[in-house]
Amino acid sequence: MQPYLDRDLNEEQMLEAEAHLDDCAYCRRRYRFEVSLRRYVRTAMNEPMPLELKAKLAALRTPLH
Ligand SMILES: [Zn+2]
Repeated sequence: MQPYLDRDLNEEQMLEAEAHLDDCAYCRRRYRFEVSLRRYVRTAMNEPMPLELKAKLAALRTPLH
């Protein structure tokens, strides 16, 4: 879901991703989680992100389910 969040998709891929989110509870949950996580990270921006958290985020970046 990373490319979707980063809006790095063409229009067709975007529609596909949105349709998939409508269908797939697993990805929908992950998408919402990433959105709220990013909001949190933005507010905590003054502090460097701990390496452990970075690793956890990287582990979440898997293709559509
Ligand atoms: Zn999915």
